[in-house]
Amino acid sequence: MAVQACLHWRDTSAERRIISSMPANDRCLFCRIASGEIATKKIFEDDQVVAFNDINPQAPTHVLVIPRKHIASLDDLNEEDAAIIGTTLVRVSEIARTLKLNGEGYRVVANHGEDAGQTVFHIHFHLLGGRNFSWPPG
Ligand code: 5GP
Ligand code: ZN
Repeated sequence: MAVQACLHWRDTSAERRIISSMPANDRCLFCRIASGEIATKKIFEDDQVVAFNDINPQAPTHVLVIPRKHIASLDDLNEEDAAIIGTTLVRVSEIARTLKLNGEGYRVVANHGEDAGQTVFHIHFHLLGGRNFSWPPG
């Protein structure tokens, strides 16, 4: 499914049932954003993936792309998560293209654990663009 100008996903009752059957953690900030319990302007959503702007942007474009499924971090992934993580990364790529970041380049970051700077324990991909990025990262 292609992202068309980050249009919101149609919310039909059948699709709502899919969402409500997704494992979620009611104390998790990103689960609450994904479900709409915490109002956040989403730039993309479908039945599996949600994307919204980071509250503290580190680049002109800084989007967080998350699976609706609550997975705490990269360290918690297992074989059954392969499809959802694959879909999440396809959405990262589509959103980057929609935002026209693909020409100049962009960076995708997933922090695992406190030493790497993870502060929200629901797996997410930072999509950063609109400036140059140095390597190695800080
Ligand atoms: P991490 O540090 O875990 O890799 O990334 C978490 C990101 O979530 C941070 O960049 C932080 O700015 C962002 N963040 C934390 N709370 C909120 C919030 O309530 N809304 C939004 N949109 N972003 C948030
Ligand atoms: Zn969560």
